[in-house]
Amino acid sequence: MSDFHYLAGHSPAALVLAKMAGEIIEANDSACRLLGRTRQQLAEVAGEDWLQRAGDTLSRMTGDACAAVEVMLRHHDGFVFSAQMAGHVFDHPVHGQIASLVLRSSVTLADGAGIAQAALDHIEEAAVLLDAEARIRALNPAYSRITGYDDVEALGAPIQLGETDEAQAFARGLVERLEPGQRWSGEVRCRRRDGEPYPAYVKITALLPGSGEDTARFVVIFRDLSVKEAYEARIDYLAHYDTLTGLANRTLIEKRAELARIEVERDGRHLALMFLDLDGFKAVNDSLGHAVGDELLCHVAERLRAAVGASDVVARQGGDEFVILLDSIARPEDAAQVATRIQEMLRVPLTLNDQAVFTTASIGISCYPDDSRDLHTLLRNADLAMYRAKRQGHGRYVFYRPEMDANAHWMLQLRNNLHRALERREFHVYYQPFVDVDTGAVTGIEALLRWQNAELGMVSPADFIPIAEEIGLIVEIGQWVLREACHELQRLHERGYDHLRVAVNLSARQFRQTDLVEQIAAVLEETGLAGRHLELEITETVLMEQAGATLDTLHALQALGVAVALDDFGTGYSSLSYLRQFPITYLKVDKSFVDGIPAEKGDLTITRTIVAMARSLDIRVTAEGVETPAQRKWLRHWHCEEAQGYLYSLPLAAGDLEWLLYNHDLLPVDGETGNLTDDPSSVLEE
Ligand code: C2E
Ligand code: MG
Ligand code: MG
Repeated sequence: MSDFHYLAGHSPAALVLAKMAGEIIEANDSACRLLGRTRQQLAEVAGEDWLQRAGDTLSRMTGDACAAVEVMLRHHDGFVFSAQMAGHVFDHPVHGQIASLVLRSSVTLADGAGIAQAALDHIEEAAVLLDAEARIRALNPAYSRITGYDDVEALGAPIQLGETDEAQAFARGLVERLEPGQRWSGEVRCRRRDGEPYPAYVKITALLPGSGEDTARFVVIFRDLSVKEAYEARIDYLAHYDTLTGLANRTLIEKRAELARIEVERDGRHLALMFLDLDGFKAVNDSLGHAVGDELLCHVAERLRAAVGASDVVARQGGDEFVILLDSIARPEDAAQVATRIQEMLRVPLTLNDQAVFTTASIGISCYPDDSRDLHTLLRNADLAMYRAKRQGHGRYVFYRPEMDANAHWMLQLRNNLHRALERREFHVYYQPFVDVDTGAVTGIEALLRWQNAELGMVSPADFIPIAEEIGLIVEIGQWVLREACHELQRLHERGYDHLRVAVNLSARQFRQTDLVEQIAAVLEETGLAGRHLELEITETVLMEQAGATLDTLHALQALGVAVALDDFGTGYSSLSYLRQFPITYLKVDKSFVDGIPAEKGDLTITRTIVAMARSLDIRVTAEGVETPAQRKWLRHWHCEEAQGYLYSLPLAAGDLEWLLYNHDLLPVDGETGNLTDDPSSVLEE
């Protein structure tokens, strides 16, 4: 045989010599494989309709036309597939005009009908036709897309079903054992050409032998489930996680709590659920915008996660509310440590919009099994405790107590009775002194409202002020307090204590009144008190609420000589640099920071920073809730000028206050020992 013969015989291209009517004269081995027939069989196919159609196409070819055209060919096994046919027409010495052709399968599984073929070309599922030995005879583009094997590699090769070689052998065995007409379907782990495993849902059908066909063959259709799995994973994520912060959501934490409950049931430990609500978050959203609010929530989420153990779960319940599951604690008290750690971590200033901002949160804690064995009740308990914490001020945590169940009822009673409290003369104003830290001299007093009701007893302003605010009664009550306090101070001035000022708390709603300044001017006029002896306490939240209008009000008050104090400072979100814009005279460092003196490093840093910054802005600092000599000593060292707290005096009725002023040398001044005076440097150096 000549080398020239070898060239044709061993060419990977399917080569055919055909008469213009389609009759095949000669074919090489590749062409025989493509059509699934021997040379002998090929010579005998003359007359079959597919060949005639191919012949029609062929007869339209002229001369040197080499362009590929699409033809439909029929495999010996009976299936039709489309192929590219390129050819050259020439004059043969014996056969006359014939064509030399190259055939290339377009590797589409087709039954010859255009629509069906287009469908197969475009479906998501891989579709292949297998011969009796589970070798691929035809495939659609999805097969290549999913498996990574292109048509040339795939055609004639065994189908790839299975992750390992053994699995593949098993799958092929499964295919081959199917009797004609039988089907099998199921999920199979497969592996792509690049090694990546993927799940597939596979359907295999063993075809019934067609007329004149005697070889069994199979249609395999399969779907790549990894896309579905990813989708399901996403759905699962959305169902269990908060998209903003990436924290768990309420659903997930409930599931986790249920698992943890079973676990602690077994080992006799405890669970704690914490309900956490950021203090004054609304002000951030309103003043700095939602984007900044979202950013803050993300920072908080990060800190919460860092504050708890790896197996504890932090969830965002929505808005600025978070739920934390401590999944195994030895004693309920351990939750207090975590709550303290959370508060400390939240207080570290963070930068939002180029401003240093402090955050605090109110936390309610409820424990399993002590507080309830039912998880929903436990969560509700934690929520109740959180509300209690909120009302005690900012940055607090409170453990649930059964009395809180009566809370809802109690609130209703407060609400009902509050309406008549003014006319029934149930309100009283108490006064708590401000004291010069250096000298112990009383510099002023703060008016603190008291409500004495026959049925309810003495109600804390922390309980009823929010209700009064909510129902709008605060305006009327506030006016009464203002008038009362100014009268009392005027009276004290007349008695010789004319260096004193009086501080009156203003609620947000009061501060928003458009005629606030006129009202105050009228009270000053009526009582004869000079504006410079009056101080109004507002919170940072109020300050930030509507900066523009606030500034106008503050300037008008300034014109009256009235001083403004920022109460509970450090618990809202206003940054120190923000203060520069406002004419503020006093700043009251919140009790929660003072509580940490001298033990909590974070609190010390914050208090020191606040004092230093305020001094640089010419704002005077008052420390709230000073209870110990050690606190006083520390404050004095760091130049905090003024203090208020039980160390000096409780809030007192007017008569008692006068007695205190008369004996003012009873107030603690320098000289006594504090808890830590044995080693004062440890306090002061900090
Ligand atoms: P505030 O203005 O921050 O007042 C300080 C609160 O801390 C007072 O609670 C005071 O009794 C308490 N306190 C002072 N020193 C200490 C201390 O050393 N230790 C402890 N544990 N507590 C101390 P109070 O009188 O229960 O008032 C609570 C809050 O109710 C006030 O917080 C203020 O925001 C509000 N409030 C009171 N009176 C009025 C009022 O007339 N109008 C308005 N709008 N709010 C008022
Ligand atoms: Mg106050
Ligand atoms: Mg305060």
